[in-house]
Amino acid sequence: MQAKFSVYRKEPGDNAKPGRSTYTVELADDATVMDALLKIRDEQDPTLGFRGSCLHGYCGDCTVRVNGKAMFACTGKVAELAKKGDISVEPIRNMPVVKDLIQDWDAFLWHKIDATRPWLEPNGAPENGEPAIPDSVMAKVRQAMSCFYCGLCDEGCTVLPVDFAFVGPAALTKASRFLYDPRDTATKERLAILERPKGMWDCVHCFEASEHCPREIAPTERIMEMRDEAFKHGITNEKVARHHHSFHASVKRTGWVDEGRLAIESEGMANIRGLMRLLPTAAKAVVRGKAPIPFMHHKRPGAEQIARIIEKAEAKEK
Ligand code: SF4
Repeated sequence: MQAKFSVYRKEPGDNAKPGRSTYTVELADDATVMDALLKIRDEQDPTLGFRGSCLHGYCGDCTVRVNGKAMFACTGKVAELAKKGDISVEPIRNMPVVKDLIQDWDAFLWHKIDATRPWLEPNGAPENGEPAIPDSVMAKVRQAMSCFYCGLCDEGCTVLPVDFAFVGPAALTKASRFLYDPRDTATKERLAILERPKGMWDCVHCFEASEHCPREIAPTERIMEMRDEAFKHGITNEKVARHHHSFHASVKRTGWVDEGRLAIESEGMANIRGLMRLLPTAAKAVVRGKAPIPFMHHKRPGAEQIARIIEKAEAKEK
């Protein structure tokens, strides 16, 4: 099988301009994108930079975007991907590039995980005869621990493209592992870190992280549980409460979200400084023809049925 690849290229350094190289490669019928990259490096271009480790879809080290979709280079099958023509290989989104397909995992993930106090703080060593922790209690810990830091949830995150300082779903998933652990004694201290700006409250619950996770860890749900835990400890966030209220009211009123109104009501109508901060984003949206006109939101078809579903859920909640 012969396949043609268009591969993203960039030399190290902030001023280096990105480009593309094209390669035509002869491959076995069951070859993966990683096989192709290795062959290109070995036979055509030793300067091509990329990462890979286990080559079996286990370590998450070779995450790249192929034909616009994030995947592991070592499991993406060339025969399938080549059906639509040339295969495009790029670094994943939301991550600074060091060189070519080599991404800066320190900035993307490790520094962010470091910032969440990612270590267990038990109350001394277990005593002899202390009852073992039931398996059911550890199930959630194990689920979070099955994260192999592939970065796919951060790649799909809709907050990171607009705010790279957001800690991101992968680091929050790691943090959740310690919140679930019954041996840990530092819940309050952890939540105090996670509630800071750019932490758990900045997640917008778009569920892209959960959609992207190959391990079914459901990072978005983990973040929501983390917030519930924060509420239990008396930690709240007024802006998030306003955001939830506006979102809920909008969907109930019109069947969908009035994004312009949501932004304004989340900041708070009386928060002039917060509203001023929205202006650059609003200006960009106007230039791109994507600015919703707040408070002028029409009802979508079926809005009444949607409202009834919400009312039923509200009644059940009560
Ligand atoms: S939570 Fe899932 S998608 Fe995110 S880094 Fe871990 S394994 Fe990858």
